[in-house]
Amino acid sequence: MTQHFVVIGSPIVHSKSPQIHQVFATQVSLDISYQRQYCPDDEGSFTAVIEAFFHGGGAGANVTVPFKQMAYAYCQVHGGLSEHAKIAGAVNTLLLNRALLDNGAPIVDAIYGDNTDGRGLVTHISSLGWVLTGARVAIIGAGGAARGVILPLIEAGITQLTVANRTVSKAQTLATELSAASDKISACDIEICATSDLRGTFDIIINATSIGLTDATLPLSTDLQTRYAYDMMYGRALPFLEHFAARGAQTSEGYGMLIHQAALSFERWTGHTINVEQAILALGNKS
Ligand code: NDP
Repeated sequence: MTQHFVVIGSPIVHSKSPQIHQVFATQVSLDISYQRQYCPDDEGSFTAVIEAFFHGGGAGANVTVPFKQMAYAYCQVHGGLSEHAKIAGAVNTLLLNRALLDNGAPIVDAIYGDNTDGRGLVTHISSLGWVLTGARVAIIGAGGAARGVILPLIEAGITQLTVANRTVSKAQTLATELSAASDKISACDIEICATSDLRGTFDIIINATSIGLTDATLPLSTDLQTRYAYDMMYGRALPFLEHFAARGAQTSEGYGMLIHQAALSFERWTGHTINVEQAILALGNKS
């Protein structure tokens, strides 16, 4: 019997998740359908989309821009959250909580949220040979993706984390919420990236904004340098990476993160472990 999956976002046409999950399914001989689902950016529409999907027999969903915090709020009230999702305050993976269903809960009260983004990022960065232990890291962006990766980065041994965001209050909230996990998190305005103030401060700079989905660019000072630069966006030319590559940094787009976080979601939904290296080869070695 075909198992149905979906990725919900706005915009969503760029998502490579359907191809990736089809490769995983082929690897473990499962019959699946995995579709992109556009959703208007409001809570009512998002709730209607996920409830219709699970009522219709859906087995699992991914949630992407801009719905990760909305998905967290939904699961908090309905079917529950994993530890990673709770700490992140953001959800990228939805599934039905079988224990609640078996106890007679209606489907809409058994939608459970996990977050695999951070583990996907850390696994990919480690596979690149970039050392996280002792690293001083800056994350630009404070949305759902940034929230998901901070705790796994701290667990991987980074020693300093600066969160820079356009809406500085969101970066401050994030730093406050995660202060129990680390006293090394600070928050600042994204405008600081356009000045010389951050020069020489970081080993790794990560772009976790959604600016790569548009033609806009981040304000980056010509002085701003790092050893490693990572952009969570993938599949198009990224001025953020070009900026740092021109200054001698090693760079990576987020395609490898996408595959690793997807493998963890797939495992959560189906119980099958994916050989990620084999999947990358099948996908055309793009990470
Ligand atoms: P959200 O919508 O939750 O957050 C968007 C973030 O981008 C906010 O910090 C926002 O700042 C910032 N931002 C948006 N536009 C601009 C701009 N013009 N200038 C400066 N900052 C801007 O999105 P997510 O956190 O879910 O996703 C962020 C990105 O990460 C997306 O591109 C997504 O595709 C990518 N991603 C990739 C993954 C992978 O596996 N490779 C996994 C998860 C995400 P503000 O708070 O001020 O609005």
